[in-house]
Amino acid sequence: MGFDSINGLWESICEEFKRQPNFSSVGFNVWIRDIKPLAMQAGTLVLGVKNEYIKNTINSYYKKVLEDCCLTVSGLSLTIEILVTNGEPVPDPQVKQTATTGAAGYSFDNFVVGPSNRFAHAAALAVAENPDGSWNPLYLWGNSGLGKTHLVMAIKKHIEQKYPEKKVEYLRGEEFANYLIEAIRAGTTKIFHDRYRSVDVLLLDDIHFIAGRESTQEEFFNTFNVLYQANKQMVITSDRPPKEIHPLDERIRSRFESGLITDVNPPDFETRVGIIRNKAQQLDIDLSEEITFYIAEQIKTNIRQLEGVVKKLHAYILLQNHNPGFSVVQSIIKDIVSDNQPEPITIDRIIEEVERTYSVSKEDILSKRKTAEIALARQVSIYITKQLTQLSFVAIGNFFGKDHTTIMYTINKIDEIIKRDPSQKKLVDNIIKNLQR
Ligand code: ADP
Ligand code: MG
Repeated sequence: MGFDSINGLWESICEEFKRQPNFSSVGFNVWIRDIKPLAMQAGTLVLGVKNEYIKNTINSYYKKVLEDCCLTVSGLSLTIEILVTNGEPVPDPQVKQTATTGAAGYSFDNFVVGPSNRFAHAAALAVAENPDGSWNPLYLWGNSGLGKTHLVMAIKKHIEQKYPEKKVEYLRGEEFANYLIEAIRAGTTKIFHDRYRSVDVLLLDDIHFIAGRESTQEEFFNTFNVLYQANKQMVITSDRPPKEIHPLDERIRSRFESGLITDVNPPDFETRVGIIRNKAQQLDIDLSEEITFYIAEQIKTNIRQLEGVVKKLHAYILLQNHNPGFSVVQSIIKDIVSDNQPEPITIDRIIEEVERTYSVSKEDILSKRKTAEIALARQVSIYITKQLTQLSFVAIGNFFGKDHTTIMYTINKIDEIIKRDPSQKKLVDNIIKNLQR
């Protein structure tokens, strides 16, 4: 990985941290400088601090940015785990490269099947066995953290093993959209077309990112048709069924609906227990039945969180050399559940959604330009900001460089437009829905 030691990695993370735009040396000296890197294993970087207070501060304010810095300097997407060492001697820092559950680890073998995902699993396996477009497309949907990406990567792996001659392409909806925009800018759309239209199997994860961007949808629709007509297999995932993706071109929607649609649901208790055992076994740790059941009772709706708990327990066992007691398990669960609170709705996120839906750039929204398109996108951003945040007219005005009466006027105006025009209402409702997810 290019770092001889975990200390080297940690130093580089600190250097990167100092380069962050809102870096403050006081913050660094008070909270970060005295952190001791302890261990790195199985996707986790364990850091030691002196007391609970520092731990909580880092978890609340610095963990995410440190994780991002780590990704930037090392390319490793590690979860940071903070441990209070109380000045006690700690084990020697160690770097062990074990198989983390990255993309390489997703297969049908380690996918635990239960009533919540049985049909999705069967459909995915059938497509992987015979990717000849008999069920085209396979459309998998369900909430985040329920195994869609896992199944898609398992399909990829299976096809690559069984049909090495087939060209399989995996990409996320967001990447598809970004690559296309880049290609349009660089004048290389022809290469883009050829690349995705010449595959045998196209796996498109999180398609909902394409919805709302007109040029992307058009390109996707054309690609889809070419592959569809040639009986090339496509697998598509989303966090919602086709009929709930707005705005989505009707032609695409009906094509999706003519394929095989299946959903993944939150796992029942037994499946959760199975998943915990499976993850514990992969990390080579032994969890008592009591603890396994306890975790399965506490975390019900997100398999990513179940997995997160097992990873944290693993880090704990590595460092302490004994199995955790109940209080440790409890606090780990609490951390994980609170880490996964929905992101707060900020003006930035609102503008991003508007940008995507109206195909007007953020710069334009925040500029003084007054073409009809840009003005509408700006007004909608202001309207949604008022609906979804606690900001006052004055505060919103400050952000958009307008006085508060203009903001009030704008909000009334959009209200009127929405009442008159159902298609505008749908767009706005949908942005709000996306933000609230
Ligand atoms: P999604 O794409 O639906 O948001 P992922 O496929 O990324 O969810 O799953 C989140 C995590 O949970 C992954 O690490 C995955 O391996 C794990 N996971 C999900 N479902 C299962 C399952 N049935 N068996 C084993 N692991 C699972
Ligand atoms: Mg996913």
